[in-house]
Amino acid sequence: LTETQIEAPLSLAKAGGHGDRYGARADRMGRMAALGLPLPPGVVLDFATVASIAEGGPIPCIPDPIGPILALRASAGNRRWGGPQSILNVGLSDATLPALIDKIGARGALEAYRRAIRSYAVRVEGMDPEDFDNLLYDQMKFASRLGERDLEAIVAASKALYEDETGAPFPQSRDAQIEGALRAMAREWNAPTARILREANGAPPHAGLALIVQSMVFGLGDSRSGAGSFQPVDSSTGDAAPTGRYLPDAQGGDAGRGVRTPHMITEAERAEAGQTLPALETLEPAAFAALVDGAQTLTRGFGDTYEMQFTVECGRLFILDAEPVRRSSRAAVQIAVDLVECGVIGRETAILRIEPRSLIETLHPQVDPSARRDIFGTGLPASPGAATGTICFSPEAAMALHAQGEPAILVRVETSPEDIRGMHAAVAVLTVRGGMTSHAAVIARGLGLPCVVGASDLQLSLKAGELRARDGRVFRQGQRITVDGTSGEALAGAPAMVPAVPSPAFGRLMDWADEIRELGVRANADTPADAAMARRFKVDGIGLCRTEHMFFEGDRITVMREMIMAETVEERIAALDRLLPMQRADFAALFETMQGLPVTIRLLDPPLHEFLPHSEEEMAALAAATGLPLARVIARADDLREFNPMLGKRGVRLGITMPEIYDMQARAIFEAAYDAGSRTGAQVIPEIMIPLVSANREAELVKARVEAVAGAVMAERGGSLEYHIGVMVETPRGALRAGDLARSSHFLSFGTNDLTQMTYGLSRDDAGRFMRDYVQKGVFPEDPFHSLDIEGVGELLLIAAKRGRATRPDVTLGLCGEHGGDPESIRFCKVAGFDYVSCSPFRVPIARLAAAQATI
Ligand code: PEP
Ligand code: MG
Repeated sequence: LTETQIEAPLSLAKAGGHGDRYGARADRMGRMAALGLPLPPGVVLDFATVASIAEGGPIPCIPDPIGPILALRASAGNRRWGGPQSILNVGLSDATLPALIDKIGARGALEAYRRAIRSYAVRVEGMDPEDFDNLLYDQMKFASRLGERDLEAIVAASKALYEDETGAPFPQSRDAQIEGALRAMAREWNAPTARILREANGAPPHAGLALIVQSMVFGLGDSRSGAGSFQPVDSSTGDAAPTGRYLPDAQGGDAGRGVRTPHMITEAERAEAGQTLPALETLEPAAFAALVDGAQTLTRGFGDTYEMQFTVECGRLFILDAEPVRRSSRAAVQIAVDLVECGVIGRETAILRIEPRSLIETLHPQVDPSARRDIFGTGLPASPGAATGTICFSPEAAMALHAQGEPAILVRVETSPEDIRGMHAAVAVLTVRGGMTSHAAVIARGLGLPCVVGASDLQLSLKAGELRARDGRVFRQGQRITVDGTSGEALAGAPAMVPAVPSPAFGRLMDWADEIRELGVRANADTPADAAMARRFKVDGIGLCRTEHMFFEGDRITVMREMIMAETVEERIAALDRLLPMQRADFAALFETMQGLPVTIRLLDPPLHEFLPHSEEEMAALAAATGLPLARVIARADDLREFNPMLGKRGVRLGITMPEIYDMQARAIFEAAYDAGSRTGAQVIPEIMIPLVSANREAELVKARVEAVAGAVMAERGGSLEYHIGVMVETPRGALRAGDLARSSHFLSFGTNDLTQMTYGLSRDDAGRFMRDYVQKGVFPEDPFHSLDIEGVGELLLIAAKRGRATRPDVTLGLCGEHGGDPESIRFCKVAGFDYVSCSPFRVPIARLAAAQATI
């Protein structure tokens, strides 16, 4: 670069809005100065100038009004890209020292000079900081608090050390010091390690660095000076509560370094902490008032809540920098809502600021305090909330279970990065080893998963496949346990749970999201208990009730097995007659809970293997319950076993070949609608959904029988009954023939779990075994069972939506696979013009927020 290309330094006060040339920090400080905040004056050297300085180019002239003594600070294009540390006290020399002594006193000025020599020697000349620190510590052997004489001696020794090492005296010219410091910082930016680090954080290869040259303000000395940090809200709750730390006689980050006990900022904070040191509020009331004022100005000007770094020089406040307050998920919601209520930001901005997945943390259910706790292991409460699930000793097992829609609890000795996908698939994590910052703890908190670590009273033997408790009990893969990450305990079985109680701010944010969003959000809820949970999360209805799950409760499974294994229609009808009242009661409870909101009930869709007895005990139990000879039970189970049950006699195929099953379910639904309607007074319009349809004739056959049942029930009960029949689109053929299917369907609901499985030819139950490799090697950008494969499965959805709407413009389009709770997939559904998504109850708030974001 030639000299003519070098820009004259820009006044810091004008740097706002020029981040592309002067970096993020200069932009931020410029905007702060423009808001009238008390910043020390300064100038900025742009990226090109600093690049030239690094290569030996000329140093621009720093105008004198900035002051004799300077602070040099780095300003990269993005905060995350780092940059050289600041060099402070530049320009301090024998000649400028007396004026500083006059200003802040001899002790402060000498300490500043000591620091000036040290940092110049270390940063510019590459000397060892320890040599300088030893000078300080040697002197401190004789005096716990260094006086003027001590500091004079250290300054003299520092100068001598400098001269010894470099062969030249410590530079006394301000210009020489500025030049040395600027070149050092410019070169540090170009060092290979600095480059690698910032590129790892997303910096482009030629990212530039700007340098801010600012008047130095001094927190050193006895003259009512110090340094600290301040924020107007609590980081964990987001509540308005001024908080921070202040260290008198300190500079820069000293307050956070733990050298001396810092003072609190407010008296309220001091009293709460039981500290005796007076708070800044008392020490420096004017500076404190300016700080509170400055925070308000900053919040209004920047539209967010900031933490400020400040210095008090002789009682006067200077703000050095500010960054958005770090916040927990809960605090993020509180802060965003408060900002809306103070008129600082609009509702849409607040909604866009919250990462939908982060809501998980505010939504932890807990074990009901009145429930019996059968504790079998105790460890550290690493991540809050509680969850019940099935023990899995490997990440693969957790992924396989998750693919079946079942809650998995990952139990490991400790976790490593290989376990992450398994943790993603789990509802909770339990480890025998580890501490609060171990891998499992950190990752689980990030994912919002309940987690207990270091449960050292448990012994896990993967070889034997058992988890042994101290009391001798043995737990194996497949057993149900509960992890209470709030108390740090592992409980046997499934104690009653209470849902999370979200804060009022959370409720407000959700209300705003509901006002904005256009996409409906329903819940996948199989039982009346699930429905009650879904109501608490304010759903628009139930988008999927998997009726087969109702049969996993209590001893219903035996009746269900009898029905599935019946060899004659008469036997089957006899079993169905016993199932009818159970289903009717469940459906009535669902309708009553949902009080007139839509409820979509899917007719039976069991891949039969899920219901067949597997073990000898199960066979024997079934034989005993039915009075059938054991040999016959075994033979029949063998007979029904399929090579490929996911592609076998399931879904509508079951309905076509054993129509009595759907007849019973339709009757249970219609009778329940009458029962619930007469009890609640709210009109119930059941939505009956036929699973796994790939040809319209399948839907027609089922529809004809369902209509016949409706006619019969109406004749028996009187009056009229409104209901809708729709199909699930979950095979590629179903998607391609959606135009045809829409003829018999009031709605099309996309079962993207099966549709993904069948589009890829990728088993839901086995994909976990190699998914990690696939994602790691970049074959899939993401697990397509987590986040919708927009390119492939997404195209099928678009084709189906278009063809369905072409036949029936008012056909309702919904999605009820796992993707219904995934923010990116929800955005796709919005863009594709769907009417609703349906997901598990705990993901409903995430979906409501994501749906609102997709609308904005
Ligand atoms: C689906 O396939 O996406 C679906 C919702 O049904 P299930 O997960 O019960 O197969
Ligand atoms: Mg399915």
